[in-house]
Amino acid sequence: MEDCLFCKIIMGEIPSAKVYEDENFFAFKDIAPVAPVHVLVVPKKHICSIADLKPEDAEIAGKMLYAIQKVADLLGLSQDGYRVVFNTGEKAGQTVHHMHAHILGGKEMAWPGV
Ligand code: IMP
Repeated sequence: MEDCLFCKIIMGEIPSAKVYEDENFFAFKDIAPVAPVHVLVVPKKHICSIADLKPEDAEIAGKMLYAIQKVADLLGLSQDGYRVVFNTGEKAGQTVHHMHAHILGGKEMAWPGV
């Protein structure tokens, strides 16, 4: 997508602190971290949000959970745990309209956090 910030990051047109990449996913540090570890995992395919998933995206959506698991392992978060957040839609706080998972960790977190 031409004007998508995360598509530009995936293509290397905008620099990022990459932590993981495979055929389908790209992960990089959030520019404005809200936890000691804050990484975004994005599918290379431009999908606006969970609300825009189509039946043909089911495979990539499932693989995304495994990519999140892999990135969390790489970040050393598996032992202590981590939170995964998909802001979906503007009212939920989504500001970049390319589906992404926030992986948050490195601290104790309260719940509910809304
Ligand atoms: P959202 O608010 O759930 O859509 O999350 C978008 C996230 O992207 C926010 O946490 C931003 O801090 C982050 N972000 C925006 N621009 C950049 C960037 O250029 N590099 C890394 N993270 C970014």
